[in-house]
Amino acid sequence: MRKRGPPAVGAPWASQRAEGGPAAPDGILADSPDRAGVSVSHSVFPQVDVAIVGGGASGALVATHLAGVGADGPRVALIEAGDRLALGAAYSTPRPEHLLNVVASGMSAFDARPDDFVDFLRAGPWAGEAPDAIRGRFAPRMLYGRYLQTILDGLPADAPLKRMHGEVDTVSPVADGGFRLTLTSGDAFHARTVVLAIGNASARLPIPGADALSSAQLREAWDYPRVAAIDPDADVCIVGAGLSMVDAVLTLRANAHRGRIVALSRNGLMPLPHVAAAAPASGAYAEAALEAVLAGGVRTRMRALRAWAAHEQAAGRPWQGVMAAVRPYVQAMWASLPVSEQRRFLRHAARQWDIHRHRIAPEVASMLEVLRAGGGFALLAGRAKALRVDDRVRIDYLGRDGAPGRIEADVVINATGMEKRIVRTANPVLRSLLAQGLARPGPHDIGIDTRHDGAVRDREGCPVPGMWALGVLRVGSLWESVAMPELRGQAHQVATAVRRQLADGRA
Ligand SMILES: Cc1cc2nc3c(=O)[nH]c(=O)nc-3n(C[C@H](O)[C@H](O)[C@H](O)COP(=O)(O)OP(=O)(O)OC[C@H]3O[C@@H](n4cnc5c(N)ncnc54)[C@H](O)[C@@H]3O)c2cc1C
Repeated sequence: MRKRGPPAVGAPWASQRAEGGPAAPDGILADSPDRAGVSVSHSVFPQVDVAIVGGGASGALVATHLAGVGADGPRVALIEAGDRLALGAAYSTPRPEHLLNVVASGMSAFDARPDDFVDFLRAGPWAGEAPDAIRGRFAPRMLYGRYLQTILDGLPADAPLKRMHGEVDTVSPVADGGFRLTLTSGDAFHARTVVLAIGNASARLPIPGADALSSAQLREAWDYPRVAAIDPDADVCIVGAGLSMVDAVLTLRANAHRGRIVALSRNGLMPLPHVAAAAPASGAYAEAALEAVLAGGVRTRMRALRAWAAHEQAAGRPWQGVMAAVRPYVQAMWASLPVSEQRRFLRHAARQWDIHRHRIAPEVASMLEVLRAGGGFALLAGRAKALRVDDRVRIDYLGRDGAPGRIEADVVINATGMEKRIVRTANPVLRSLLAQGLARPGPHDIGIDTRHDGAVRDREGCPVPGMWALGVLRVGSLWESVAMPELRGQAHQVATAVRRQLADGRA
């Protein structure tokens, strides 16, 4: 008999139902009970044990851990501002050319079942392929979204999970314990505990004059359909050179784009490629090198990393093995740096770190190289100074070499990635929590401050009883808190803490 807990992929999926209605297909949030049988009316469920704010990957996984036990589990509300659950910015792409940046074997949603995603692929989209071949492949992100939705849809029929569509506006403590949540629609309900899983927010285009861009001239990189709708003859300037830039170029290429594609970023650095079979570097040298990477200031550590990478390459092994070896220790590396050294890292080393750590599939890297060599895509290093709009868009920049330059384009894609600085957040629930002193900015003003178990710290630094956060919100505290290996661990950890708190409350 299977242990109670999150459902296993590959099991015949029971559909999620509420109040006896039909199943909600594909994690689509219903807006009325008769459309999909998932009532969003808080009056049916005015008080819950757990309110999960944000229904992306993180929120969906916390909900799965809590509601997966069936009718005996806590009553959970999963509240999502968008119209589909479990996808968020990363997995809502409908574009097959957008690949995961981690091989399938690293993308299970559960630490306890490392092959869960591989099994999902074998059971459906990639049926008939050998498991070992699947493990090493970079699957389309849309398939990963389907995997997460399948997990959520597979919860027991009697799971006390309410999927709610709406944007949480405020969360305030109430006198008799718990919290009152209001939505921007004006609806309100009560929850004994709250989990913040609000994830990625995109940064605004950071160029003076950008407000003059019409909506036809400005596309957000995470608005995948609008990027795909760009006229193939348009000259395109992509601002930013990270993974979202790569996504945009892939889509333009898939649409046989004929116009110029230019990307502009401050240092002109792009994510580096994965290589097949980059096993974590090991052995006596690696042990000593890892110790060096975990001690001293940023400069010493970066020097140690470079020396280690050079050592591996001299031995005929890829430098990527070094990143694989340090990957489990990144949070420890961050925590062991004094605040002043963390600041130095952010100022001088973060971009270099990012391009080595957040890599792209080898096939994507080769395609970009071919495109670049053929003149179909150019990457410029410089700081955008001003943007003017007349018949076209003109972006003036100061090149990294000190020389001024200008890019003329018809369309600008904002691929500057996620906004980590909490003071710039437009998310109402965060603004509300900060204003009430129920949360405080995280280290370096990145995300919010959290305790080791994800408990949210208030203005004074004390954990707020009954409130947790996970994912991107914890980047300032942990640095490595964005990708699936961390999210699945945090989802399990937070669900355990919530269950414990609810049990203590009842006792
Ligand atoms: C383009 C992209 C590609 C990525 N690729 C990978 C990858 O290949 N592998 C990997 O491991 N990681 C990848 N990541 C990292 C990614 O951040 C995580 O894998 C994961 O998707 C984050 O999920 P999340 O639920 O924490 O945040 P999100 O996906 O951002 O979900 C948060 C959800 O909260 C909702 N929300 C926000 N505020 C409110 C509110 N006030 N009320 C109600 N709802 C609200 C949002 O609508 C959103 O749906 C990628 C990230 C991006 C942006």
